[in-house]
Amino acid sequence: MTVDHEALRDAVPTPFWLDQPGRPAPRPALDADTSADLCVVGGGYSGLWTAILAKERDPDRDVVLLEGNRIGWAASGRNGGFCAASITHGHANGADRWPDEIETLDRLGRENLDAIEDALTRYGVDCDFVRPGSIAVATEPHQLEWLREMTDQSPRATYLDRDAMRAEVDSPTFLAGVFEPDDTALVDPARLAWGLADAAEALGVRLHEGTHVSGLSSAGAGLEVRTDSGSVVRAGRVALGTNAFPSPVRRVRMHTVPVYDYALMTEPLTAGQREAIGWRGRQGLDDLTNQFHYFRVTEDGRILWGGYDAIYHFGRQVRPSYDQRPETFDLLARQFFTTFPQLEGLRFSHRWGGAIDTCTRFCAFYGTAYAGRAAYALGFTGLGVGATRFGADVMLDLLDGVDSERTRLEMVRTKPLPFPPEPFAWAGIELTRRSLAAADRHQGDRNLWLRTLDRLGLGFDS
Ligand SMILES: Cc1cc2nc3c(=O)[nH]c(=O)nc-3n(C[C@H](O)[C@H](O)[C@H](O)COP(=O)(O)OP(=O)(O)OC[C@H]3O[C@@H](n4cnc5c(N)ncnc54)[C@H](O)[C@@H]3O)c2cc1C
Repeated sequence: MTVDHEALRDAVPTPFWLDQPGRPAPRPALDADTSADLCVVGGGYSGLWTAILAKERDPDRDVVLLEGNRIGWAASGRNGGFCAASITHGHANGADRWPDEIETLDRLGRENLDAIEDALTRYGVDCDFVRPGSIAVATEPHQLEWLREMTDQSPRATYLDRDAMRAEVDSPTFLAGVFEPDDTALVDPARLAWGLADAAEALGVRLHEGTHVSGLSSAGAGLEVRTDSGSVVRAGRVALGTNAFPSPVRRVRMHTVPVYDYALMTEPLTAGQREAIGWRGRQGLDDLTNQFHYFRVTEDGRILWGGYDAIYHFGRQVRPSYDQRPETFDLLARQFFTTFPQLEGLRFSHRWGGAIDTCTRFCAFYGTAYAGRAAYALGFTGLGVGATRFGADVMLDLLDGVDSERTRLEMVRTKPLPFPPEPFAWAGIELTRRSLAAADRHQGDRNLWLRTLDRLGLGFDS
């Protein structure tokens, strides 16, 4: 389990964001039976936004949140911090699946991002929320056409030819780009989760960490939420923000698979290193390969470099040992220096991975169980920093029986096809992953397997 690349030798095997000052002390575990109007399971963004919005909708609602580990320790504290307006894993994915609704979905996504910014200001959440815009970068000639299509689809997008692109951020691998001024914010992910937890608490939500939920069952007009320690919450309603972990509602488990995504963080760049790559702003970047990279600058001038490999392990397990994958870190490091040869000699301070809840339509699905008394939002597939707040609103609409613009959406009323059981899930995902890599090597040409999945509206992504 050792890394080979020299620049990785001193990299700490832990998420950078969770390894910084300001991590709050754990809230106490639930150690006695209690009751609540709403019990939220999961202390990532999904659960935290649900708790906050539940209180905003009705300040008298008694809300308790149970987190099995620590607030924001999972995907919410270890992601790239790209907080996108899209609630459909990108406009193209939404437009393909719901052409009649895409305008509404795009608008709801923009409203959701604005509402996030507004809430962070209102609650004083200090999480380095900035809106510097994003750039999609072409690194292969066949991607130039895709950039043109992206520019045509978005009235606010600007096409950057090679020189204009390299004037924004300079890499010999960049052929062109598309700049979107306001579709994506950047955040410090862990500080966002910690700040949301403080906001929830200030609204009167009771937070318990180290409290793993082992099961749900009907109890009178509500539900009984059992925990590993034996304590029970009797709740009128339950909202499940459990992401890539096994859902307490068994029947939805086949709809997602945990896929591991990996990232590196550099040391802070010197003024000279920053000058050498010309990246003067904070624009968030990603490239257009199927196995794509995402990269951005932090508040203290480091570069986060993540993506490319999306690893699924046989058996659908989420395991701490999967968070480290030396061969992926070595590959990411080599690709980093191919992109920015000017930075040769720069070292990485952190390396980590985490599980993403991938579903076959790449964006979240929603539903209820126990006769409408429990709701879930799952399947964010690597684009959940912003979309989880929208998912929280949907869960509350469903639990409160509200007929809203959100609950009328086909996107909300339909579910993705489930993944098959093993060994078929592993075989299918592995074949898809290899086919995507081959397409990247062959000017984007999709083989028969990928074309078949496309026709069926199925896929695999990170
Ligand atoms: C490496 C990486 C990079 C990413 N980059 C981006 C990005 O740049 N932009 C983007 O939009 N998205 C990104 N994502 C995805 C994004 O982080 C997630 O979609 C989002 O954080 C999901 O939030 P969540 O609250 O649903 O899940 P999580 O943050 O995973 O939280 C779920 C919580 O539920 C708890 N839990 C689960 N089961 C139980 C139980 N039975 N009892 C009690 N507690 C339970 C877990 O302990 C966990 O804390 C990335 C993900 C990873 C891993």
